[in-house]
Amino acid sequence: NAPIPTYERVMLKVSGEALMGPQGFGLHPPTVERLAGEVKKLHDLGVEICMVIGGGNIFRGLQGSAQGMERTTADYMGMLATVMNALAMQSALETLGVFTRVVSAIPMDQVCEPYIRRRAVRHLEKKRVVIFAAGTGNPFFTTDTAATLRASEMRCKAIFKGTQVDGVYDSDPKTNPEAKFYSRISYDEVLAKNLRVMDAAAIALARENRLPIVVFSLNAPDGLAGVVLGRGKYTVVGP
Ligand code: UDP
Repeated sequence: NAPIPTYERVMLKVSGEALMGPQGFGLHPPTVERLAGEVKKLHDLGVEICMVIGGGNIFRGLQGSAQGMERTTADYMGMLATVMNALAMQSALETLGVFTRVVSAIPMDQVCEPYIRRRAVRHLEKKRVVIFAAGTGNPFFTTDTAATLRASEMRCKAIFKGTQVDGVYDSDPKTNPEAKFYSRISYDEVLAKNLRVMDAAAIALARENRLPIVVFSLNAPDGLAGVVLGRGKYTVVGP
């Protein structure tokens, strides 16, 4: 495996689906609690943590527009879904004694803080987990792009992208037992081979800012903290 240096500040990106557990929709509290426990273990190591959670367990803009809804309206609904997920994660983390702030790209002052870069940096310095909600605040983007953007703004050392597989393969390892595993791969190769790591806009932004993307399984034996310490199997997407 490629060595991982010590990361003092990281971005953790998980899809909304990571919160739905076996239900197939919405929020599954034991699954949210399990993920919060993983984040706490990383936090206990002193790592400063940014999080972006998708909204696909509740609503996706593309689905809405396929059903005849105006695309931008559907995308705003998707962004609102990410706020619900962020609040659920905040609640689970604070139950474990981890202080957090939810900061939203779309101001909704009664619910959470607006995103103000300097304030978010200050929260990180005070060891609060900062959950960035409402994506980029713009339709036609994804939470992968939001994670890359915020990670760049917060000067994170890497993005940790938690998925259901243990890294990047050249084809789906669930259907193809011959699928080739990459422990390291370049941004260009990911784009050229159209590998499903993150969408192309997010990969291009990471490439521009030389931000490594570590793709790992949310069910990794040593957990998220293990992966950040360089243990187990994962793929590093880099220059
Ligand atoms: N979304 C958006 N702009 C953003 C981020 C998200 O419009 O900057 C909308 C988009 O409709 C997307 C939905 O929010 O489908 C949920 O986000 P995403 O699909 O990235 O969630 P995930 O697949 O990670 O659960």
